[in-house]
Amino acid sequence: MTPPPDGSGLSLETLPLRADLRGLTPYGAPQLDVSVRLNTNENPHPPSAGLVDAIGKASALAATEVNRYPDREAEALRADLGAYLAADAGFPLRPGRIWAANGSNEVLQQICQAFGGPGRTALGFTPSYSMHPLIALATATGWIDEPRGADFTIRPEAAADAIRAHRPSIVFLASPNNPTGTALPLDVVAAACAAVAENAAVGGRDAGGVVVVDEAYAEFRQAGVPSALTLLPSCPRLIVTRTMSKAFTLAGARLGYLAADSAIVDALHLVRLPYHLSVFTQAVARTALAHTGELLGTVEAIKVQRDRIVDEVRALGGQVVPSDANFILFGRFPDQAAVWSALLDRDVLVRDVGLTGWLRVTAGTEAETSAFLTALADVLTHLPPIRP
Ligand SMILES: *Cc1c(COP(=O)(O)O)cnc(C)c1O
Repeated sequence: MTPPPDGSGLSLETLPLRADLRGLTPYGAPQLDVSVRLNTNENPHPPSAGLVDAIGKASALAATEVNRYPDREAEALRADLGAYLAADAGFPLRPGRIWAANGSNEVLQQICQAFGGPGRTALGFTPSYSMHPLIALATATGWIDEPRGADFTIRPEAAADAIRAHRPSIVFLASPNNPTGTALPLDVVAAACAAVAENAAVGGRDAGGVVVVDEAYAEFRQAGVPSALTLLPSCPRLIVTRTMSKAFTLAGARLGYLAADSAIVDALHLVRLPYHLSVFTQAVARTALAHTGELLGTVEAIKVQRDRIVDEVRALGGQVVPSDANFILFGRFPDQAAVWSALLDRDVLVRDVGLTGWLRVTAGTEAETSAFLTALADVLTHLPPIRP
């Protein structure tokens, strides 16, 4: 008897899938074959020939010891990451306060595994990064949604009140926020940290929580905007996560990391898989960090394109949300899905993040940004935006 080509005939409906996962569809932006891809917030500048060569050499060297497991602690990489963060933190960060994993999504998952789980909750302020609730779900952590204000900001008192009312184990804040680009003033982070500490003081160990500030886009923030890293000395329950996928042009390598109190890093050791960072990942990330100056050189060029999109979309009669990131939320449209398709017809892919009236576009190279703006001007002649 020949089995059916895709397997033995099992289906998702018959498998003993966890009840809370039944009926879900996997997360992911459409990966379409389009000339101008401005939908996933990557850095549009590929690494230089020199860096490609350095990555090749570092990978070849790593291959000579690939018969052995990698450094389980990734000590050298964590030291390099701590040294890199010192400029934004204002003080040196020892490797014991740094943790790294395969993308910051894995870092966030490990935080949920260690501090969330059945019977516990995570709280976020939406609209925000849609993976936060999905990672909570995958780790059987309950999710509590608090709305942001109409201008997508969060008031410190509102954050503290929500945290006191719900006593979440994990609070997710994103700064700059995805998909809105909004940076959080530090008083919001400090208020959240004070509220989780107060919950612990009043209700005991299980009533307290940790505060995660997801700074995936930190390198793109406007001049003078401080990083939440500066609050680490005064907020022991604070975790600041970063990634090499965006500003650092390393989305394909998968490296995310965090800075926190060393006790938090100790907790994450309990849930990480042994040897989770391959020798290649560690070698490639360290090579990129050794070329920080060159890689972050593209950040200024991207910020110029971001600020250009803001000006030109406004000149076309559209609205934009002020952005500290490498993307912009623009609109508002009576039917944002129609504008999304009309742009796609013109070979430009942006992101419909499911926010009524709005679309998100990544700042690309100068040529990509020009292609987007030309296509948008054309589309808006038949699909005009709502006037402010
Ligand atoms: C892109 C993104 C990440 C993570 O990406 P990794 O590639 O997993 O490091 C994390 N948070 C936010 C808000 C993002 O937009």
